[in-house]
Parts: sequence; structure tokens; C-alpha cells
Amino acid sequence: MKMPLDNLQAVIRCPVCNKKYRKALMLVLDEDDKRTTLHLSCSDCGASSMVFVSMGQFGVVSLGVLTDLKQSEARRVFSGEAISSDQVIEAHQFLKQYTGGIEALI
Ligand SMILES: [Zn+2]
Repeated sequence: MKMPLDNLQAVIRCPVCNKKYRKALMLVLDEDDKRTTLHLSCSDCGASSMVFVSMGQFGVVSLGVLTDLKQSEARRVFSGEAISSDQVIEAHQFLKQYTGGIEALI
């Protein structure tokens, strides 16, 4: 859903302090015909959030979540490859058989 940032700026507020976001601190991470994903940083309180805006059956719907990712980190996550189901199964099998402490995995 390609929606100009000016339009989104008017409707999206910081979930922590309720201030409107400044366009300069909004980063489009991903967008297609039906969905736009943004990383937003609040100029007032410094909180960051990821907002998913999509066009649904009943109009524009947005979902925001707080994040500790900086914009550069969020961009890297979104530009990387998606995790495959085989990788999830492999991690599950590894953890199921793993008998060591959690410290060794970090
Ligand atoms: Zn804020």
C-alpha cells in the first residue's frame, strides 16, 4: 500500500508520549500494494516503534509495537533473508537435544 509519508504522519502517534512523529524520523522498511512497514523514532521521548499499515476490508488498519531496534538495525533485519521452516526445525531439534547451559549459547 503505497501511502505518502505525509498522510501517515498525521495519523500515527508515539505510543509512549502521544506526540506526532516527525517525517524526518520515519523510515519505510517495506511496502507493497497492500501493506507498508515503518520504523518510527519519537523526537520527544526517544521511543522507537515498528508500525504495520495495511488496507483491509474495512479501511486502513495500523498495528504498532515498541522496539529497541535502531533504524539501521531494523533496515538490516528487513533486507535479510526470511527464516525457512527447515531452519526452525533444525533449531528446535538442536535445542531439544542440547544439555548444556544457556550461557554457552549466548
Ligand atoms: Zn514519544
